[in-house]
Amino acid sequence: MRNYESRKRILVTGGAGFLGSHLIDRLLEQGHEVVCADNLFTGSKRNIEHLHGHPRFEFMRHDVTFPLYIEADEIFNLACPASPIHYQHDPVQTTKTSVHGAINMLGLAKRLRCRIFQASTSEVYGDPSVHPQTEGYWGNVNPIGIRSCYDEGKRCAETLFFDYHRQHGLDIKVARIFNTYGPRMHPNDGRVVSNFIVQALRNQPITIYGEGQQTRSFCYVDDLIEGFLRLMATEPGFTGPVNLGNPGEFTIRQLAEQVIELTGSSSKLEFHPLPSDDPTQRRPDIGIARDKLGWEPKVALREGLQKTIAYFDKLLS
Ligand code: NAD
Ligand code: UDP
Ligand code: UDP
Repeated sequence: MRNYESRKRILVTGGAGFLGSHLIDRLLEQGHEVVCADNLFTGSKRNIEHLHGHPRFEFMRHDVTFPLYIEADEIFNLACPASPIHYQHDPVQTTKTSVHGAINMLGLAKRLRCRIFQASTSEVYGDPSVHPQTEGYWGNVNPIGIRSCYDEGKRCAETLFFDYHRQHGLDIKVARIFNTYGPRMHPNDGRVVSNFIVQALRNQPITIYGEGQQTRSFCYVDDLIEGFLRLMATEPGFTGPVNLGNPGEFTIRQLAEQVIELTGSSSKLEFHPLPSDDPTQRRPDIGIARDKLGWEPKVALREGLQKTIAYFDKLLS
């Protein structure tokens, strides 16, 4: 068990969300103290209800676009709606969350002289012309489209992280997260894995956007969180950005077929128009994560989907 010297007080913004709540579980298991700051826009108290009364856990309802004055030894900045439906609901607030949120959390880290992690995204590569995507690729992003509030907000947050690093010597760690799935995804946030599983379990049509030939790479949540912890534990001066994701690449149609098979559903495929700026392909090059973190995903899509289906089956019944 940790003592007062080795126990850290760790702030997780967006901690009531899908990824944040899994991260908090791991940090508490490691014996740390966790403060979760979340405005509950897309997160839910249900994701952290099992921690109610935990002696090392504290929840604060807080919007990161406002300043936050607390004490902490480390910060994980995850606050931001992540699914297209949610981040396009109030796009101005999405940009504010990424940009003002980053400024406030970086200001807090600067005052505390503490290490800070940023949950960036593969969306910084936009609709990529380099495949698979390496960290050295600068991306192909539309600055004025419907995804821009998220993509450009996250790009600007990365800029702020690197300028606070260069200008104020801040110890930063930037992860570029590729599509991740697992238990505690929001059932109505429109992301492809949760949509297909919920539709299949209800024997409703599976909604494929476009022809379903666009590709994504899906990482199971436990693998991703292991990557977060390894990145956060690297030596000062190693900043990233580091791609974290599963290099297995599937078409959306293949994903639909696999979900139908695993659920034994009678759902049929239904084709809908492709939303604008929807990237046609996405797969991480995880060479840096392998070399620097000794990390690679362990959970295959089939196994991860089975666990996620079991979660939604219970949630919906
Ligand atoms: P999520 O929507 O489940 O979690 C985001 C959390 O942030 C929610 O709890 C929400 O209430 C909170 N939040 C939103 N705006 C806030 C604000 N202004 N102040 C305080 N809290 C706020 O999404 P997630 O999948 O858990 O994503 C977590 C982070 O990881 C996000 O920054 C997201 O951009 C990034 N990310 C996720 C994925 C993925 O596939 N899940 C991929 C790339 C990047
Ligand atoms: N900030 C915060 N908590 C702190 C310190 C700063 O929320 O403990 C916020 C504050 O709103 C400030 C922002 O972080 O505007 C950026 O801080 P920084 O010190 O970089 O800039 P300045 O205060 O000089 O504008
Ligand atoms: N998608 C789909 N049907 C759905 C939801 C999404 O075909 O019901 C597609 C979507 O057009 C995109 C891919 O699946 O090409 C991944 O979508 P998601 O919103 O999960 O993530 P992102 O586009 O941000 O990678």
